[in-house]
Amino acid sequence: MRTPSAVTVTLVRGDITQQSVDAIVNAANSSLLGGGGVDGAIHRRGGPEILAACRELRASQYGKGLRTGQAVATTAGKLDAQWVIHTVGPVWSSTEDRSALLASCYRESLRVAAELGARTVAFPAISTGIYGWPLDDGARIAVRTVLAEAGAPVEEVRFVLFDAHAYAEFEEALAAQG
Ligand code: ADP
Repeated sequence: MRTPSAVTVTLVRGDITQQSVDAIVNAANSSLLGGGGVDGAIHRRGGPEILAACRELRASQYGKGLRTGQAVATTAGKLDAQWVIHTVGPVWSSTEDRSALLASCYRESLRVAAELGARTVAFPAISTGIYGWPLDDGARIAVRTVLAEAGAPVEEVRFVLFDAHAYAEFEEALAAQG
């Protein structure tokens, strides 16, 4: 699918740890020390090198943790990628609008990816698992932000959706905005 920014946005149903891309984005938590969901899967399959790199980042720059909406890269260990870009999504709130923070995750991850020279970047549906963000809204924010922000050297942004529901929501968001 071609977008006005000439970045190709693709949707894949599957496991993000199986993707062959330059950069895999991790829906991390602020500790950077691993967690459940996609974070756990990335560390399990990527091996201890990623956690070691995260520990170094904690020690050197992020003693208080990575702030919500920010992104930072490490090695991708044994994954078929050069980098993992860790970003911390906001926890869903029904009383407070945190969508700017969710958009920031996509924007900052793309900024880091571009700085590294990544051409292909895979994203999960940030915040839509343990952090409870409704998938339809999470998909809209993801697609809108990527269409607005992605540019050279990034050529392909691949959303990797774990299940049929997530895939369908992203398909709809892309059809509405793409
Ligand atoms: P968060 O804490 O940001 O909500 P989660 O990892 O719990 O992060 O979930 C984010 C999204 O990633 C959810 O839609 C979840 O279904 C999905 N997910 C979980 N494991 C994987 C995986 N291995 N590959 C791709 N997506 C995954």
